[in-house]
Amino acid sequence: MEKKILVIGELNVDLIVSGLAAFPSLGREIMAGGLSRVLGSSSAMCAVDLARLGAKVDFLGKVGVDEYGEFVTDQLRTLHVGTDHVIRDSVVRTGVTISLSYPEDRALITYPGCIPHLRLEDINLPILRNYHHVHVGSYFLQKRLQAGLPALFAQARRQNLTVSLDTGCDPDGKWGDSDLLTLLDLVDVFLPDEEEARAIARVDSTETALRQLAERARLVVIKRGASGAMSLRDGQIICSPAFQVDAVDTTGAGDSFDAGFLYAHMIRGMPLDEALRFANACGALSTTGLGGTATQPTLEQVTIFLQKR
Ligand code: ADP
Repeated sequence: MEKKILVIGELNVDLIVSGLAAFPSLGREIMAGGLSRVLGSSSAMCAVDLARLGAKVDFLGKVGVDEYGEFVTDQLRTLHVGTDHVIRDSVVRTGVTISLSYPEDRALITYPGCIPHLRLEDINLPILRNYHHVHVGSYFLQKRLQAGLPALFAQARRQNLTVSLDTGCDPDGKWGDSDLLTLLDLVDVFLPDEEEARAIARVDSTETALRQLAERARLVVIKRGASGAMSLRDGQIICSPAFQVDAVDTTGAGDSFDAGFLYAHMIRGMPLDEALRFANACGALSTTGLGGTATQPTLEQVTIFLQKR
């Protein structure tokens, strides 16, 4: 049977305001040259990336009973991610990120809405039996789900699913506590970036963070931007270099990397070094276009890219 992945995470819409001549300031009005509405959220990007690679993937998250919730769900569906487990909350509204886009960087305003409202009790655990792997993204944003994750992961493992976790960044700057480290004991693949790994392990060196975190999670893969990725096998550090590309926008590169790694290692069963190379290719390709879901590579694009390198 084809392996199927359930991604559990946050959902929000991104409103991107562009063509701004100045920064907004109190009491003034500035004009924007462009406005677009796209599917946002790191976990959703990862799910869409998995689908583009050809994986069978469903999403479990929460939206409001509102137009943005419908938009987000429609987008997922259009991009071949199953939405049967998207929950509609009649009390809280769908999360929104307003992105003020300037050539040098973006300024973001997020209304979390439903994002911190997903709880373990919202998840019908017997559905896990339909999947081979469960991936949880943006741990730090999902405040009410955090306490339920040990039970969720334990149940998944009892049902022979493998489990992966990407915490994303912690907007509160606290980077978790012993609960997060204990949770890692139940994780098969932990996918932090360099800064997150060091902050969670509370050390200054990426290598030390890798070794410490790998005492908890079965496999730790650290994303290192233009330096590629790092992992540990049998006590040996494996460094997989990034591919040189003309990076235009690195937003979402980590989500594309996660999808690439999960597809290669957990679905296709590629060995670790090959899977890291595949994931680096996905990450690199995603940086070559401007944000959104349009630049995420298909399996064919990754295969051609890797053949040329
Ligand atoms: P995150 O977005 O989670 O912080 P990174 O910025 O580390 O993650 O990027 C994830 C992956 O994307 C990297 O491990 C690498 O494979 C790829 N990547 C990111 N930036 C570049 C770049 N400038 N050139 C080539 N590959 C990149």
